[in-house]
Amino acid sequence: MKITAKEPLSYIDGGPIQTICPYCGHKGTFEAISRDRFIQNQYICGQRLCPDQDCRGHLFVVLDRSGNLLFHYPFRNVSLNKENIPASIIKTFDEAVTCHAQNCFVASAIMIRRTLEEICEERGAVGKDIKTRIHDLQTKTLLPQELFDAMDELSLLGNDADHIEANTFAQISSQELDVAIEFTIEFLKALYQYSSLLSKMRELRKKYPKQDELT
Ligand SMILES: [Zn+2]
Repeated sequence: MKITAKEPLSYIDGGPIQTICPYCGHKGTFEAISRDRFIQNQYICGQRLCPDQDCRGHLFVVLDRSGNLLFHYPFRNVSLNKENIPASIIKTFDEAVTCHAQNCFVASAIMIRRTLEEICEERGAVGKDIKTRIHDLQTKTLLPQELFDAMDELSLLGNDADHIEANTFAQISSQELDVAIEFTIEFLKALYQYSSLLSKMRELRKKYPKQDELT
């Protein structure tokens, strides 16, 4: 994103912003730490601070004149433990996150749907389209219904983006993708990591049995 600035630049108060911290991953209200600058009668440029007391990460931000967040630096860095998740799925999901950070929302939505398609493929879920494959995946796993309901919604998000004639194409928002990315992380964790955590816990119990299990 390039913004050209000609003097004199006026001061403005863009107010706090809601976003997810690229450092700690928490969602919060980021307050300004200095006065914002109003550029080209169009952009508000400033600095914000993560509200998390243990983080206090610093962001450079660009807002539109209504105070909507257009850009921030550093980009969002999703803190996802990649253990047990297939590398090809991580790669596709990383692309979705990178596209989102660069405000390429349609591309991000398409990559999120592709992540879901790769999950179905890796788990051997079959069907004529993504929706049927998701239903088939549900029969092969023991994950909560809510996760699959949300997965259904996500597959529609990408589907709209694929059809250029659809009006919903232009309506994919940063906030919608925030939720989509958060949900995809939960789904990846549930599918690839819960069982390994359970195995670890069982191993520990064998190693350090409870007192009543010794008698
Ligand atoms: Zn933070």
